[in-house]
Amino acid sequence: MKVTLLKHTPDPELLCAAAAMTSYKGEGTSRLLAELNLEKARKTLRRVLSSGHVSVTEHASFTFSVEGVSRALTHQLVRHRIASYTQQSQRYVTYDTLDQYVTPPSVLENQKAKQIYDETLTCISAAYQELLKNAVPKEDARFTLPNAAKTNILITMNARELCHFFRLRCCARSQWEIRRIAIEMLKLAKQAAPVIFENAGPSCIEFGYCPEGVLKEPDCNIKEIKRQFREM
Ligand SMILES: Cc1cc2nc3c(=O)[nH]c(=O)nc-3n(C[C@H](O)[C@H](O)[C@H](O)COP(=O)(O)OP(=O)(O)OC[C@H]3O[C@@H](n4cnc5c(N)ncnc54)[C@H](O)[C@@H]3O)c2cc1C
Repeated sequence: MKVTLLKHTPDPELLCAAAAMTSYKGEGTSRLLAELNLEKARKTLRRVLSSGHVSVTEHASFTFSVEGVSRALTHQLVRHRIASYTQQSQRYVTYDTLDQYVTPPSVLENQKAKQIYDETLTCISAAYQELLKNAVPKEDARFTLPNAAKTNILITMNARELCHFFRLRCCARSQWEIRRIAIEMLKLAKQAAPVIFENAGPSCIEFGYCPEGVLKEPDCNIKEIKRQFREM
């Protein structure tokens, strides 16, 4: 799996702070932005965000490339609707090696499970290749492919939606693969806009408790989770 922040709105914190100031200052945003420095912008953002006016963060967009993940992951990812996606198509790309499938850690760590898994994928792969050889188009041969099939996806989300995504998907209740990419995305987003994302992470960080009911420790020690995400 590889997660890269490809592009983001230039000076996201300056822009979002200027957006916030637009609502209560006499000047237009162009002048506010021209006169704003990062220290003032961050102070403004902290005040505005802590009072719940988070819509100003919709002005900053972030584009991530997520590569070598399973279709099981992307199926969950695209449920997040306030985003734009472009995904590798199984109508054009051929699956011809076992490297083109993701193996979950629970299978990797279990010799017997790994054997069953590899045999199944080898069998699926052979059937897929046979269909192609028998003039079945890729768009139909792909019906045999499993959720493990690797894929690449490009994601663009604004900062408000990203924070919502992090609340749900950085949580210990979330499935391991989407949780891993969410945490990688959050690390990258924090580097680009530390104040916008300083309280981002699973919902327990924001609420101070788990709205779904705490899982057993060590998965869910809220104090420790808070520390990890704040220091990320
Ligand atoms: C741990 C976990 C387990 C899950 N298990 C399942 C499962 O078993 N089955 C399943 O089907 N899904 C499951 N999901 C997916 C979940 O139900 C959501 O579809 C997904 O998390 C996207 O969340 P969302 O709708 O809040 O986000 P987004 O689509 O990102 O939307 C963001 C916010 O915008 C608003 N919004 C967006 N679209 C609309 C709309 N049409 N109308 C009104 N408001 C809107 C809402 O406030 C929403 O919260 C699971 C998710 C998690 C995190």
